[in-house]
Amino acid sequence: MADPHEPSDAAARRAKPAVVVYPNNTLPHADMEMLERARRTLTKIADIIVPPRDARAFEVPAGCFFRIVSVDGPQVGDLNLWNAHDLSEHFFSGKTRALNATHVGKGDRLWSTLPNLRPMATITHDTLGWYGFDADGGGIHDVIGTRCDPYTNRLLAGGDYHHCCHSNLTRALASARGMDPRDAEMHVHDVLNVFMCTGFTHDTHQYFMKASPVRPGDFIEFFAEIDLLGALSTCPGGDCGSTHSSDTAKCYPLKVEVLRPDANALAGWAPPQRNPYPRTHGL
Ligand SMILES: [Zn+2]
Repeated sequence: MADPHEPSDAAARRAKPAVVVYPNNTLPHADMEMLERARRTLTKIADIIVPPRDARAFEVPAGCFFRIVSVDGPQVGDLNLWNAHDLSEHFFSGKTRALNATHVGKGDRLWSTLPNLRPMATITHDTLGWYGFDADGGGIHDVIGTRCDPYTNRLLAGGDYHHCCHSNLTRALASARGMDPRDAEMHVHDVLNVFMCTGFTHDTHQYFMKASPVRPGDFIEFFAEIDLLGALSTCPGGDCGSTHSSDTAKCYPLKVEVLRPDANALAGWAPPQRNPYPRTHGL
């Protein structure tokens, strides 16, 4: 039944054109040709295995690359990134979504929080790029979810579960930086959902997940634009095809590889500066 408050020109109002909020033609892009050349010269300098239902921190110097690799079985990863020298500058999921799309892939950049707003990392390869968007509207590597956490679990399901991504990331940061977990927790932020297949239902626009199509050997690769501290959680949801925030789903490790290009591969490149807005805010 029609809503009695619907105005007579409702159809005309709904027919207005959709305008992309941030036109991509002014967004500064990475020099993908240079990065493509550089990635052909990579030498691995570190390997980090993240055990199931846990997280590990890792450092990536500016100008190096890192890969998140599927090993053993389909597994979703929750990624946090910080400026290695200033934890107040971290990955800004919401603005990255607004500037790119609900899901990110090769060529997209991960932006940092205000007042910095600079690219922290650029995606240089994605073996799941073929997936696109499926019939349900699902895509891979979303910036719409936040991370599973014990507070929402307590709210919705009751009980305390200590291996949600939020807690895993908290433990990883606390151990990497010798911090009290309650201090570390305040630096954990909305994630990039690596390998996760998500979308919004067509009818009710609710956030959904479905089994990740990732298979062992698949990887997503990033170029570190600034010195990075990262943390990756192996979500207790496993492939996130059924449930999370419990020990029910089958879970697998993930591997992080840090790789360095040849010294001359990035000739002329320099890390991006923080955003130059003077922060006077009209005063
Ligand atoms: Zn999770």
